[in-house]
Amino acid sequence: MLRVKELKTIKEILSKMEKDILGDLQERIKSSNVDEQRDIGDMFDDADIEQSREFNLLLSSRERQKLQQIKAALKRMDAKEYGLCEDCGEEIPVGRLKAMPFATMCVKCKSLQESLEGQVAATAEEKA
Ligand SMILES: [Zn+2]
Repeated sequence: MLRVKELKTIKEILSKMEKDILGDLQERIKSSNVDEQRDIGDMFDDADIEQSREFNLLLSSRERQKLQQIKAALKRMDAKEYGLCEDCGEEIPVGRLKAMPFATMCVKCKSLQESLEGQVAATAEEKA
């Protein structure tokens, strides 16, 4: 299992990522014409954040995806599922998690999945 200290480090990486995205967003809100200038913290605390008009206007789909991944990773931490491969259930090495905090699969399963996806893509191309 991941040690508490390691988990804490990864949690810090995740919250820094979240802060960076929200910080950028805050800047954009300031310089935009959004009428309703709510505090970004309140906005993010809203349960229906994804439905928020301001968010959808100002967040790129990439950023939105990243925020969702951050939330999902934090949720897995709370559920004590974080760091386990969702495919084989083996522990994901902490080094990998630090580099890719959203990783949900171990290297072995991930590369297997990618090679399978590659095969599917290749087959589809042949047919096309
Ligand atoms: Zn695995």
